[in-house]
Amino acid sequence: MNPEFVRNFSIVAHIDHGKSTLADQLLLQSGAITEREFKEQLLDDLSIERDRGITVKARAVALHYDIDGQTYELNLIDTPGHVDFHYEVSRSLAACEGALLLVDAFQGVQAQTVANAYAAIEGDLEVIPVVNKIDLPVTRIDEVLEEVETILGLDPDDALKVSAKQGTGVESVFRAIVDRIPAPSGSPDAPLRALVFDSKYDPYRGVITYFRIVDGSIRKGDKIRFMKGATVHEVVELGQFRPDMRACDELGVGQVGYVVTGVKELGNVHVGDTITQAGNQAKTALPGYKEPQQMVFCGMYPIDATDFEKLREELEKLSLNDASFSFSPETSDALGFGFRCGFLGMLHMEIIQQRLEREADVGLIQTAPNVTYEIKARGEEEVLLIDNPVDVPDAGQIDEFREPIARVTFILPSSNIGTIMQLCEDRRGTYKNTEYLGPDRAQLTYELPLAEIIYDMHDKLKSATRGYGTMDYEVIGFRAADLVKMDILVKGQLVEALSTIVHRDFAERRGRGLVKKLKQEISKHQFEVALQAAIGTRVIARETISALRKNVTAKCYGGDITRKRKLLEKQKEGKKRMKQFGQVEIPQKAFLSVLEAS
Ligand code: GDP
Ligand code: MG
Repeated sequence: MNPEFVRNFSIVAHIDHGKSTLADQLLLQSGAITEREFKEQLLDDLSIERDRGITVKARAVALHYDIDGQTYELNLIDTPGHVDFHYEVSRSLAACEGALLLVDAFQGVQAQTVANAYAAIEGDLEVIPVVNKIDLPVTRIDEVLEEVETILGLDPDDALKVSAKQGTGVESVFRAIVDRIPAPSGSPDAPLRALVFDSKYDPYRGVITYFRIVDGSIRKGDKIRFMKGATVHEVVELGQFRPDMRACDELGVGQVGYVVTGVKELGNVHVGDTITQAGNQAKTALPGYKEPQQMVFCGMYPIDATDFEKLREELEKLSLNDASFSFSPETSDALGFGFRCGFLGMLHMEIIQQRLEREADVGLIQTAPNVTYEIKARGEEEVLLIDNPVDVPDAGQIDEFREPIARVTFILPSSNIGTIMQLCEDRRGTYKNTEYLGPDRAQLTYELPLAEIIYDMHDKLKSATRGYGTMDYEVIGFRAADLVKMDILVKGQLVEALSTIVHRDFAERRGRGLVKKLKQEISKHQFEVALQAAIGTRVIARETISALRKNVTAKCYGGDITRKRKLLEKQKEGKKRMKQFGQVEIPQKAFLSVLEAS
C-alpha cells in the first residue's frame, strides 16, 4: 500500500459523547459492517465498560474508503475513554497522525474533552473538532463551538457537524480525515521499525501484538525482534482487523496491523517497544512510553480460605489481558491468605472487581483502597514505595512521608464554583485557576492529594452540580506532607486490614468517624467490644459496643449509600461476608468503613 493513501487516526471524546457510535457509523459507511450489525451494536448497552463498537472486536480497524476514485486505507485506532487510562490514551495516540475530537452538541466541552484534546495536541496530532448529536431536539451548537475555541484554542470554522446515530454529515468526516490528516512519512527502504501500541491474549494463538509501521515493511515468515527483549520470533501470522482478523502477506510504511509470533505470555510483549527485522536491525528504537504507574491498591481475600487457589487462577486470567493490573500474595492476621492488588485508579479497580464478581465464583472480602506513598526512611538512601499501610515504618524512622498529588480539572456551572472550591479547600487542595468557557460555565483547576479525591470526589461533584459537573485528574508527582498511620484496635487487638494513612490534622476527626462507623457495622456480641483508633500507642478515639442482652434484637442501621457501597450491595447475596477475628466477627462492610468515615 502506497503510504500516500494511508491515514491513521483516533477518536477522542468525553464519555457518552458518541465515540463508539461514530466508530460504528464509520465502519458502516465504509462497508466494514452491515446495517443490521450497526443496529445491534447500538442496542447492546450491557457491557461493563460500555465500550461497544469496534472495541468489542479490536483496538484498531482498517477501513477502506473511496474518494474521487481513489481507495484510501483509514486506520481507526481506539483509545480507552476514562481518566484512569491517560497513559493508554497517549500511547494509542502515538500511533496516529490525527484525531477526531468529538463534542456533544448539547453538553459541550467537558473535563475529559479537554484532557484528551491536550493529549492529542501535545502529541503533535492534527485535531479535527466534530460536534456530534446535532439531531438532538435541543442543542447549543454555537456555544459549543465557542467553548472549543476558548478552552482548546481550536478554530471553530474547522469543526464538522454530524449525527453519528443517524449518519448525517459522516461523509464530511471521511473527507476531512483524508484532506487534513497528514499521510505517514516513514522510509520504505529503511530497516523495519514498528511501534507496539497494544497486545492481547488469545487462548488459541497466544499473544496478538498490535503495531504501526514507521519505517520498512514486514512479511509473513520474517524473523523479527522486539528490541527490548533479546529473543527472535517468526511471524506466524500477519494481518489487519477489518473488523474481523484478516491475514495478509505484507504490510508497509504507515500501516497498522497485528502479528502472531507464538509468544505465549503477555508479559513478554511490551507496549511501546519497537519491532525490527532480526537480520536487518534498526539502529535506534522508537521513543516508547512511560510505564503506567499503579496508584491505587487494595487487598482481596477469599471469605472461604479454601478458595485461595481459585482466586489466584481468576486473578491470573484477568492479568493476562490487562498488563496494568497486578497482584501478589499477602497475609493478614485478620483475613488470612489473600492478594494485594494494584490498579491505575478507582475505575480500573471497579472494573476488575466487577469482572471477578461476574466471572469467578469466589466470595471476596476487599479492604479499603489506598494510594501509593513514598517514604524517605532515616539513614536509607533509597525511597520506599509503600502500597500497604502495614508497611509504614515506625514514625521515629521516617524522615519524609510523601503522597501523590493530582492536578484536578473541573468543568462546571459557574453557580457551583463556590461549593466545589469549599470542597477542595476542605481536602487540602491548592487553588490554581478559573477560566470561563462562556457566560454560565467555567473550568476550575486545583491541586489535591490523590488520596483525597479517589473515593468520593466524583460523587460529591455530581451531587453538588446536579450532574452537570465533570472532572478529570492527572498525577503530577509526590509531595511531602504530615502523614501518619492510624491503627484500629478491636477488643484490644490490632486489625491490620483496617489501618489507614491520614494527615495528622485530620486524624482525630477521621478516627472518631471510623470507630463510629465500625460500631454500626459490627453487631453485638455476648461481651463488650471496645473499638479504638490509635496513632502509635496513643489512642485518639474510642467507642464501645455493649454486650448483647436478652430480648434485644440487633439494631438495623440505614445511613447514606455511596457508590462503593451500592456496588457491595449488588454483590451476590447468600454468602455471609464475615471474618472471625479473635472472638469478634467483623463483616465485609466494616473493612470499607474507612471510605465513608471522612
Ligand atoms: P461513547 O461513550 O463516547 O462511546 O458514546 P456512545 O457512542 O456509547 O454514545 C452514548 C449515547 O449517545 C448512546 O446512547 C448513543 O446512542 C447516543 N448517541 C451517540 N451519537 C448520537 C447522535 O448523533 N445523536 C443522538 N441523538 N444520540 C447519539
Ligand atoms: Mg464507547
